[in-house]
Amino acid sequence: MLAKNNYSKKRFIFNLYEKKIPKEYKCSFCNSTSLYFENNFFCESELKSSADYHQCDDWSINDVSLIFSGILTCKACNEKHAVSGIGHVEEIYDEEYDRYFANVFIPQYFHPTLNIFEIPSNTPDNLKEIIKSAFSLAWGDFPAAGNRLRAALEVIINTLINVGSPKETLGNKINRIPNAHSDIRIIMTAIKWLGNEASHDAELIECDLAFAFEATELILKKLYPDTDKTKHILSLAEQINNSKGSFIK
Ligand SMILES: [Zn+2]
Repeated sequence: MLAKNNYSKKRFIFNLYEKKIPKEYKCSFCNSTSLYFENNFFCESELKSSADYHQCDDWSINDVSLIFSGILTCKACNEKHAVSGIGHVEEIYDEEYDRYFANVFIPQYFHPTLNIFEIPSNTPDNLKEIIKSAFSLAWGDFPAAGNRLRAALEVIINTLINVGSPKETLGNKINRIPNAHSDIRIIMTAIKWLGNEASHDAELIECDLAFAFEATELILKKLYPDTDKTKHILSLAEQINNSKGSFIK
């Protein structure tokens, strides 16, 4: 039950309360958590249909529909991203239980897209491109992003097995992954099931897609480890071994 609860809370879209950028959103150029809206680079409006509805007797603050767009600047590298999305009004109680209303915004598009996870640098370029296209779709279209991750699996699997008939199903190919990669076989099967739901029912909820991103990241880290770091650590270890202790004394 606990596992189900934790799984259902997985997410990658975080709301903006007023104009504050959650720390989970990282600059796609330098990976720092220093994005902010410069003054005059944020605008919001209520949809006309939403404003018209205020006249109705059964109107409540929960019926408000907002849209927003803005330019985010990174404090660390000064690079820019465009963002746009939707919003609503939430009733918030502060620590002293004072009630106030806040405009809350949900991004549906970033350009350049933000990275939902950091793609290992040794990942082949064609695979990086497919995963980045999944990132770019993920904010506004979960099933489309799920389909891109399924396409990434096809590329990865062709590096793990001898590819036979082009008609062989993804499921069969996954079953042929050697036992040396049995954990990847289990993870890929799960992503395949989620990708099937995205393809056939056009239904994929945020926690499923968030899991598929986490699972894809783990596969990439296993298959394309950071060899530069490994080489660096190995080189230092060899120097320590040669001097039978610290080599800077
Ligand atoms: Zn930056």
